[in-house]
Amino acid sequence: MQQTSLAYIFKQQQLLVDENFQIPRVGRIVSDLSLDHMSNVIARDLRPDEEIPEGLQLVPIRHLITRWSTTEFEQASRAIQLLEWRRNHKFCSHCGTATEIHATEYAMICPACGYHQYPRVQPCVITIITKGDEILLAQSTRYTTNMYGLIAGFVEVGETLEQAVARETLEEVGVQLKNIQYLSSQPWPFPSNLMLAFRAEYAGGEIVPQAEEIRHAAFFKYDQLPEIPFVGSIAHKMIMQIVDELKHSAAK
Ligand SMILES: [Zn+2]
Repeated sequence: MQQTSLAYIFKQQQLLVDENFQIPRVGRIVSDLSLDHMSNVIARDLRPDEEIPEGLQLVPIRHLITRWSTTEFEQASRAIQLLEWRRNHKFCSHCGTATEIHATEYAMICPACGYHQYPRVQPCVITIITKGDEILLAQSTRYTTNMYGLIAGFVEVGETLEQAVARETLEEVGVQLKNIQYLSSQPWPFPSNLMLAFRAEYAGGEIVPQAEEIRHAAFFKYDQLPEIPFVGSIAHKMIMQIVDELKHSAAK
């Protein structure tokens, strides 16, 4: 075990960090917590009988994201997803025997039948929709604040990404799209999504929010946006990119 590796210690959706919101090195906490080795990252849950080591604190992961660099986010994201996957693959899905952690790969192996289980990512599309100098934003019924976000949803079996974008938009807000284009991607570890960002233009239809999912949805002028998702989220990045574009074309 490397003393300089980072130790990702979780308690539900919180992570153990130091006073500067940094992930502690293994060397710092190895005497307080007994740590297992897992490839090149240490990731596990804080056990119920363990105390929080001195100088450290538990902070919700969503708060940490806004403070981390992209590299820090990517490392943490990997650790979170691997831990979540290990929690949910304790038994072989073929024969039900308790699995073992593979020594070198990210895999859980079955000692009885040899079946290897690998981590899976869930593809999820997220779309920024424009109509002239306006952006479509929607407030999910799950949000507890006044925040407005983008249309997003899981890709279904047998569907292309573009079909998923069009279907989710039609389901959630009832509008049709044109010029659907891929932008970028981001792993999102809640719990194990790969966010695939798209942009598209409004093609027709009246906004009809999907009951139970969407509280309110509307087109907002780029300089009159409501509260948007936090810095560090892919939605924030997408909205800022489009706002920037619309600002520049308005200035011409
Ligand atoms: Zn098996």
